Amino acid sequence: MYRYIYGPVPSRRLGISLGIDMVPHKTCTLDCVYCECGGTTDLTVERTEYYPIREILGELRDYLSKNPAPEYVSLSGSGEPTLNSGIGELITIFKNEYPGIPLAVLTNGTLLYRKDVRGEILASDLVLPSLDSACAGGFGSIDKPDAKLDLNAIIAGITLFRDEFKATSPAKQVWLEIFIVEGINTTPEEISALKGAIAKIRPDRVQLNSLDRPGTETRLKAPPMSLMERVRDELDPGDGTWIVEIVMKYKNRTEIASYRKENELSIVEAISRRPLTTSDIHEVTGMHIHEIEKYLDVLVHDKKVKHVIGDRGVFYQIIPGGK
Ligand code: SF4
Repeated sequence: MYRYIYGPVPSRRLGISLGIDMVPHKTCTLDCVYCECGGTTDLTVERTEYYPIREILGELRDYLSKNPAPEYVSLSGSGEPTLNSGIGELITIFKNEYPGIPLAVLTNGTLLYRKDVRGEILASDLVLPSLDSACAGGFGSIDKPDAKLDLNAIIAGITLFRDEFKATSPAKQVWLEIFIVEGINTTPEEISALKGAIAKIRPDRVQLNSLDRPGTETRLKAPPMSLMERVRDELDPGDGTWIVEIVMKYKNRTEIASYRKENELSIVEAISRRPLTTSDIHEVTGMHIHEIEKYLDVLVHDKKVKHVIGDRGVFYQIIPGGK
């Protein structure tokens, strides 16, 4: 079992990707209401080498010497990866050793206002920043940022990064993710501000995401597909300058090459005793949170498992007589 790498996990955005945790669980510059990893425990903009880059590289080399190459290696995890001050060194060494394996950075984009952070991730192949709102109110309500962050500086930073990144190679891609929260970033003012920000950033793609399982705010509900489609149509420039798409999640185990029946059984066995949160399941099985989510998505879809709201957040339990 590895400490810093997990998966490979399937995603509609990246295919089969091998994830790397760059910072401890929920060390982040934001505390998003929809975060599926739970509330942020260390809200910070302080950069340091939270996890030693040499140890992460050691695990990566070991994994890649024994397994087929994933479609992507992704720097993501359950916190903000650019908080790790060694990210530039990791990307440079990895791309020197494995030039044929694409490397993606999934970032909330909040530190891209910093020249050093932009420079450190330039050698990656694909960067997926997020921007949930271009209005101070919406940004505050959805993303609950560290007090030192400034929304206008963030948008300017993502825009600068896009230009600097594309200047290294036009083949490099920036995919901007927007998490849709019904009633907050779906008003005409929010959509208009988002459209203005997207026009400045000029990403290759805009990907609309939505709640699939309850986040930290257990009252949040998944927006209906009709709303997602309306937002997609409103953000579409109509001339192909950028593509707007709705991200759909994998629901079928046959679509997931890395699906292991024994992992599904471990999770089912753990929650058959009593309802557990994803953190509890992680404690019991040792599996990574994102790996666990992959199986829970399928089990919930198959109506074998359901989620209930408890004192510590979202719990998963077996549906008696489930299929
Ligand atoms: S930026 Fe990502 S890890 Fe951080 S709180 Fe938001 S969703 Fe969670």
